[in-house]
Amino acid sequence: MEIIIADEAGVCFGVKRATEIAFEAAGEAEKPVFTFGELIHNPQVVEKLRGAGVAPVETVNEAAKATVIIRSHGLPPDTYRAVEAKAARLIDATCPIVKAQQHDAEFLAGEGYRVVIIGDRNHPEVQAVAGYAGPDVVIVDSVEEAARMDRHGKVGVVIQTTHRLDECEEIIGALLPKARELRVFNTLCNATSVRQDAARELAGDVDVMLIVGGRNSANTARLAEICAEATDRSFHVETADELDPAWFDGAERVGITGGASTPDWIIEDVVARLVEFEDATVVDRRNG
Ligand code: SF4
Repeated sequence: MEIIIADEAGVCFGVKRATEIAFEAAGEAEKPVFTFGELIHNPQVVEKLRGAGVAPVETVNEAAKATVIIRSHGLPPDTYRAVEAKAARLIDATCPIVKAQQHDAEFLAGEGYRVVIIGDRNHPEVQAVAGYAGPDVVIVDSVEEAARMDRHGKVGVVIQTTHRLDECEEIIGALLPKARELRVFNTLCNATSVRQDAARELAGDVDVMLIVGGRNSANTARLAEICAEATDRSFHVETADELDPAWFDGAERVGITGGASTPDWIIEDVVARLVEFEDATVVDRRNG
């Protein structure tokens, strides 16, 4: 069997940066150390952090007098200021690409645009950017929702960084008749699109495709969706323990990708377990 790890599979720079900041704070910062919400959408990493003494909290009051790390998804400005006022120290691990998206939303609102966010209204990144987008912000995640919007003179768009490009193109098309002026900031993250392109290509070229990452991770779920469109034999797992040997019956080539919040060690565990099932050669396409 040949195991091929997709180009760019696994952790992105924003998540890597946030994770490094959190583990560094675990060793050096004044205790207690909390993350405001789970640092990243990967339960195994959240557990490791907990083991290192960094637990997630959900409310501003729990953050009082502690060192508090803001996760890569960022926070709405009112919550950010409230945490800053209560915490002994705030460490901001918001991904710089998410920060830029927040600035874009704030700029559009300041210029009098009605801001539309394309994304999942339940996702913390979208909830954070909505706080920068003015009181009339609208969140849409489908062509149908965009089509239901009222018409406005000036509409400005920002996009959840991990969204699928093809879906955004359709939603933006549906927004076009809704405004005299439509201004779109492409806030999609390149880290997401390169993972999606590489996963799509590999899934179409193997017998079985594995997508590794948290079930609560939006970008991993999108990779799983994309791979399922390319092959019936695609499986989303969080850890190696979920692998079922029957999935690989007769398979000669197995592809693996991982979401932007999936650390390398979880992908290595999956590869090691596959090699236990059957002799295999491993082709690692990550980083070229
Ligand atoms: S996917 Fe992109 S925007 Fe999101 S944390 Fe990673 S680098 Fe930042």
